[in-house]
Amino acid sequence: MRIAFHTIGCRLNQYETAVIRNTFNSDEYTIVAVDEPADIVVINTCTVTHKSDTDTRRFITRLRKLNPDVNVALIGCQAQLQAASMAQWPNVRWVIGNARKFDLARILKEFKASSSVYIETPAIGRDAVVSNPSNIFGIDPEHTRANLKIQDGCDFFCAFCEIPFARGRARSREFSDIIQEAKALAGAGHQEIILTGINLGTYQRGSKSLPDLIKALDDIPKIKRIRISSIEPLAIPNGLIGLMASKTKLCRYLHLPVQSLHDGTLKAMKRRYSVLQVQTFLRELIQAVPSVCLGTDVIVGFPGETQDHFDETYHQLKELPFHYIHVFSYSDRPHAKSRTLEGKVDVPEIKKRSQKLRDLSRRKRLQFYRSAVGTIMPVLFEQTKDGLWQGLTDNFIPVATQSEKSLKNMIKPVTLQSADYSGIQGKLNER
Ligand code: SF4
Repeated sequence: MRIAFHTIGCRLNQYETAVIRNTFNSDEYTIVAVDEPADIVVINTCTVTHKSDTDTRRFITRLRKLNPDVNVALIGCQAQLQAASMAQWPNVRWVIGNARKFDLARILKEFKASSSVYIETPAIGRDAVVSNPSNIFGIDPEHTRANLKIQDGCDFFCAFCEIPFARGRARSREFSDIIQEAKALAGAGHQEIILTGINLGTYQRGSKSLPDLIKALDDIPKIKRIRISSIEPLAIPNGLIGLMASKTKLCRYLHLPVQSLHDGTLKAMKRRYSVLQVQTFLRELIQAVPSVCLGTDVIVGFPGETQDHFDETYHQLKELPFHYIHVFSYSDRPHAKSRTLEGKVDVPEIKKRSQKLRDLSRRKRLQFYRSAVGTIMPVLFEQTKDGLWQGLTDNFIPVATQSEKSLKNMIKPVTLQSADYSGIQGKLNER
């Protein structure tokens, strides 16, 4: 039986796809790439935006061109929330929600593909499982940098977001499980660990919080870098700036999804922090860690966002030390409260505002890359592109360099020479 896996959405989904793939026994299944014909294709879905929803449908159309008889298993967030409609789609045989996705190998064995779609999407309770199936890790040899799940779910219920409905309330993974998996990832050769979850800053297991976890990971000798994938402004634990400023392996990088920088819009979004709090935090962070890379997510066109509100957000993003912006066009989500709000913004206006922010992001990114030119920085190399080795600095600058020898998974010092929008070209600094 040939089986392929495809992920839509966030790092947590990527990690969970790797775990699920590792539960499939190689005696019964041959794992193939998604662009090869397969008997079964598993799609780990996302529902964070309207676009992620349509990506799933579009991907099935692509699969059908490759193999019209393909059997599709839909798992994950969109499967959790839209099972009934997805079960009507062509070639879909299984729709499995978040509480059952780790049982997929057993489910496929027990419920063979047939004309009636098998659906299993129970609600996700407070105590829903957050750990992996026993001794199965998210080891994925295809990626140099390894994702590591530390928690799932969220209690914040922001007005635009369906995640608490799709993944349930915040649950933190057992501390010792995380350390055990980190050691396994390091043993498999991964030097950079990316902590993933839905709301990482809320990690709390017994007396252990996120800073305790970072300190424990810091003690694993083979791990050279620890990166936080994204952290909510409301949930930044005390001590995080100190850890980044000190000699720990915590990367000088923070992705802080502010979503808006207008107090009225933040309130309507139920984000529970103010622009002033963001400014104060960033000032403190930049002072302690001057070369930190700061990224953010912004939702454009939230209901009630006037031109003045948007202009204020634009102005703040321009002035504050953000180095890139991921721009999301607002779309109504069926379970999110914002669906019922008045003051919907027209699609052409959302597009115009989004473009303005994307242009700002490009300029700020280039400015940041240029500020690093002339320095020497360690780069973790991942792959080749256009004849050059590509990697990342700990502060998230893409670097390309020439090398006759393979640099895969090596950390090497590079003199950073010239910047453009895609990153920096440099020269290996080897004596
Ligand atoms: S913090 Fe808000 S946006 Fe983030 S997952 Fe929780 S509810 Fe969604």
